[in-house]
Formats: sequence, C-alpha cells, structure tokens
Amino acid sequence: MQQDTHLYDLTVIGGGPIGMFAAFYAGLRELDTQLIESLPQLGGQVAALYPEKIIRDVAGFPHIKGRELVRCLQEQMLQFTDFKPQVFCDEEVLSLEKGNDEFILTTTKRITHTRRIIVAIGGGAFSPRPLAVNYDPKLDGKEVFYFVKNIADFTDRTVAIAGGGNSAIDWALTLEVVAKKVYLIHRRPRFRGLEANVKRLEASNVELVTPYNIAHLTKQPAGLALQLKQAKGTIEKNLNVDALLVNYGFTADNHVLRDWGLPLVHRALPVDQHMATAIAGIYGIGDSVTYSGKTKLIAAGFGEAPTAVNHIAESLYPERKQPLHSTSIA
Ligand SMILES: Cc1cc2nc3c(=O)[nH]c(=O)nc-3n(C[C@H](O)[C@H](O)[C@H](O)COP(=O)(O)OP(=O)(O)OC[C@H]3O[C@@H](n4cnc5c(N)ncnc54)[C@H](O)[C@@H]3O)c2cc1C
Repeated sequence: MQQDTHLYDLTVIGGGPIGMFAAFYAGLRELDTQLIESLPQLGGQVAALYPEKIIRDVAGFPHIKGRELVRCLQEQMLQFTDFKPQVFCDEEVLSLEKGNDEFILTTTKRITHTRRIIVAIGGGAFSPRPLAVNYDPKLDGKEVFYFVKNIADFTDRTVAIAGGGNSAIDWALTLEVVAKKVYLIHRRPRFRGLEANVKRLEASNVELVTPYNIAHLTKQPAGLALQLKQAKGTIEKNLNVDALLVNYGFTADNHVLRDWGLPLVHRALPVDQHMATAIAGIYGIGDSVTYSGKTKLIAAGFGEAPTAVNHIAESLYPERKQPLHSTSIA
C-alpha cells in the first residue's frame, strides 16, 4: 500500500457534482485539497446515470445536458493554478481513522492524511432497480437498458420506457425527438412527475400505456415482444419494440459511513447548519446528508458546499478574512 505523506487541508470524498463544486470552492479559499472518486470518471450520478438527460433546474442554465454540466464543473474546479485540487479517480475510500490533529484515510490505492474531510458520496454505491420479470441477461445493453449512455442506442428505434417518475418522463421527452416512436408504460394511471413535465408529456407524441405492468419479455428475431398486463385488472396487451429502457429508480448503499463511525438517520448523514457531522472535522454535503427540509437536488447541494468549505477555512485559518464574493479575489 502506497504511503502518501502529504498532509492535505481538506479531502473531499466523492466526485459527484456536489463534491466537484466543493473542491472548486476550496480552491477559491486557497485550501490544499484533494478529491477522491471511486469511479473512473467524475460527475457522480449525473455522469454515470443520465449523461444525456437535459437538466432544467440548475440555476443559470435554462437547460443543460448532464454531460455538459459535468464538463463545466470540471473546468470550474481546475481553473486555479496555485490551489487546483488534486483529483484521484478510480480510487475508493475504504476506511478512516482519527489521529491527533488529522485523519488517516485508507483507499484502494493509498494511505493518505488530511486535516478535514467533506463526505460527498451521494447515496454511496448505486445500482438500478431491475425489471421484475425473468429475461436473458444477454439482452442488457443491446435491447434492455437501465442507463442511457449513448442516445444513438435509441435513434430511429421504437422504444418502450417503463416507469412513472420524473426521470422516466424526462427520458420519454428526450428520446421522442430522436426515436421512431416512444411508449411510456406505467403501472398507475397518473405520473409522479413535476406538473410542468407531466403537461409537456401529455402534449407530446409519446404514447402513454397506463395502468400496465410488464408481465413477460421475449426476444424476437428483430426486437422485443412485451406482454403487458393491466394493473389490478385482466386486460392484456402486446407491444413490439426495438428497445426497452427500464426506469424504476435506483437502490443505493452507503453502509460504509457506519463503518467510518458516522451515525446515520434514515440512511443519511445528519449535519448541522455548518454541514458538520457528529465527528469534529468531518462535514457532509449533497445527497449523502440529511437535515430538516433537505432536498436531494443539485441546486441544493451547490449551496451546501460553500457553507462547509467556509466553516472549514475558518477553523483551519481563523486569521484569514472570509471573502463574500468570488469577485473580491484579485
Ligand atoms: C435519473 C436521475 C435523474 C436526476 N435528475 C435530476 C435533475 O434533473 N435535477 C437535479 O437537481 N437532480 C437530479 N437528480 C439528482 C442528482 O443527480 C443528485 O442530487 C446529485 O447527483 C447529488 O450529487 P452528489 O455529488 O451529492 O452525489 P452523487 O452524484 O451520487 O456522487 C457521489 C459520488 O461519490 C462517489 N463515491 C461513493 N462512495 C465513495 C467512496 N467510498 N470513495 C470515493 N468515492 C465514492 C460515487 O462514485 C459518486 O461518483 C437525478 C438523479 C437521478 C438518479
């Protein structure tokens, strides 16, 4: 195991959008920072789960693709030459231990030392909820999809999307533009999306198939045959499509936080008004945390990052005056 003897001011664990913004802000406050991300790429859920989705609720962007938001965050994070955070991808933080005036982190690659920690691991390791029917797993990534990694997989194809939340609606509206035809299958008569999204969906050419469940899925010489069964009813329908996108949400596993000695409430990390956790020196931001009124949105997490970083800067360097605006820095 490699020993990294450098003592960082701050380690941000998790390179999702909120961890990236925190690392940028730490550069603004001239903290010696490292960011550690377990996946090979930065961007968290945005990059891994919905890089092609159009996001409409990030301040300042009327609409922006997930991939482009991650690219902008990366450019913003790495803009300072003197206080550019060190970024380590493909490296998972396994454990942490409190020393005298520092924390010792063990990752899959190193042992590294830091004075403060920001936990930004989202829901932890996440995986999509699977389709509740038996099918040949070889279809995954060819005819059955859980992520949209490449819009071209759906271009000019007949696509069924299974799900009834915002994400399923967003995908239906996004793919409608490029696909030959889009069906949206939901087990309830109503969709659980934002009102404006549901209105756009109803005005679109997406064919809504409700209230139906997918009962069987079989591979055809060309495409898939879906057998649909009416929820709480007896009517059956057949649908032939080229591709099925399953959008039943995700399960996440952040049990690692308990192993790090951090108590969880409803599987999230409680924090105070400074985003500080129960362990002095460890802060939490983004989807990993909980407090009264917490919303798991990128916009909300972006606000939490400066709160945590400014408190950390003040605790490490009380003599430094806190700038209120980035424009006050020459
Ligand atoms: C399909 C979908 C659509 C969404 N659409 C929107 C939307 O339109 N608008 C919006 O505001 N929000 C949306 N969200 C929610 C938004 O993506 C999250 O709120 C946001 O990603 C949270 O960012 P984060 O940085 O806190 O966590 P994450 O994005 O989850 O990033 C956490 C990162 O930490 C890493 N990590 C985990 N454990 C470790 C470890 N031990 N060591 C190192 N790294 C680790 C993970 O690999 C991950 O990259 C959507 C979510 C989904 C799933």
